[in-house]
Amino acid sequence: MEARRRNQPGTDLCARRQAVTQVECYLPDTHYPLPHRALDGTVWHDALCHGCHGSGWAEDAICGVCNGGGFALLES
Ligand SMILES: [Zn+2]
Ligand SMILES: [Zn+2]
Repeated sequence: MEARRRNQPGTDLCARRQAVTQVECYLPDTHYPLPHRALDGTVWHDALCHGCHGSGWAEDAICGVCNGGGFALLES
């Protein structure tokens, strides 16, 4: 008897929230390394800021790109 798998990879949603606007990513959790994307069109990287590489700090100061949030908001 064959049982079909119900929990296949990619069926769960990422649901990661954007740090500032709190919009929720609607992509499957397998979307990495693509950026998060919300239904309102917001696109962002989580912990992939090009200024601080996700630490929130650059050159001993709060990162000017992500304001210390450790993410990068992308213009869509
Ligand atoms: Zn996501
Ligand atoms: Zn940064």
